[in-house]
Amino acid sequence: MFVCDYRDGQWQTPEIVPYAPMELSPAASVLHYGQAVFEGMKAFKDDEGSVWLFRPDQNAKRINKSAERLAIPQFPEALFLDGMKQLITIDKAWVKAGKGNSLYLRPFVFASQAGVQASAATEYRFMTICAPVSSYYGGEVRVKIADHYSRAPQGGTGYAKAAGNYGGQFYPTQLAKSEGYQQVIWTDAATHEYIEEAGTMNLFFRIGDTLITAPTSDSILDGVTRKSILDLAKHLGLKTEVRMLRVAELIEASKTGTLLEIFGSGTAVVVQTINGFGYKGEKFETPLPENSFALMLKEKLMDIQYNYAEDPFHWRYKVCD
Ligand SMILES: *Cc1c(COP(=O)(O)O)cnc(C)c1O
Repeated sequence: MFVCDYRDGQWQTPEIVPYAPMELSPAASVLHYGQAVFEGMKAFKDDEGSVWLFRPDQNAKRINKSAERLAIPQFPEALFLDGMKQLITIDKAWVKAGKGNSLYLRPFVFASQAGVQASAATEYRFMTICAPVSSYYGGEVRVKIADHYSRAPQGGTGYAKAAGNYGGQFYPTQLAKSEGYQQVIWTDAATHEYIEEAGTMNLFFRIGDTLITAPTSDSILDGVTRKSILDLAKHLGLKTEVRMLRVAELIEASKTGTLLEIFGSGTAVVVQTINGFGYKGEKFETPLPENSFALMLKEKLMDIQYNYAEDPFHWRYKVCD
């Protein structure tokens, strides 16, 4: 694991050490006030044994965008990338080749300072841990559209990968699970009329021949997979629209048959097809169509990630051979 501490107003010399539990004061600020942000990325191995990251510059920038919102000091982007590169190079035997296999990387920063006053800490720890993964979600996924609970209000921390955004979702998600859904689709906190995103995925809706996704905002996470899919879809000549989608429009499209598919996007799943949704007790099915955009985009994106295809966007980043 990669470890770098912040104290006396600066980041200290980082270290890469064996994965192990660590000592933390029970008064550590993160345990009381939740000052913590994270990232999620993957390293891929191609058939020649070279290891690649996918757009890691975007994660380096985003962790600082998240950190700023939580009053956590900025971590130098060059150190983020170089630390990641060195960590993966040491652990490269853990990156298994083959589509679907990867080394999941979890960079995170938290307030390590002891003290229970409710204000921004002066000491932090930046770490990156990793683990080999195959695929994240399996099987069919049905989602419940939120009509009561909210993930992120306007002016809140929804655009940040802030720890607390996730903890607050577990209870409503447990309730949705007890009703037979796997996840919640969040709607805007003010009216619950507009679709925002899922717990750790951005969402795409194919209505007619158009792929629709919500614009990023302060309540929506600016996903790297989301923007890559938008670029890829345009490159492939698909019609895309970045706009707010009303729940009522989605239900109407489902009833009239113009809603062809729904999918989520995120580093963990790349693309997750969604087989159905529920809203206020009513259930709708969205079976996978022939010539699914979701599956086609997933394959194309993974081909770029695994160095199986040309990378016209220069998204791949070589870690080591
Ligand atoms: C991480 C995350 C995503 C997906 O972002 P990627 O950069 O594509 O992995 C979407 N929504 C939320 C809330 C997230 O935390």
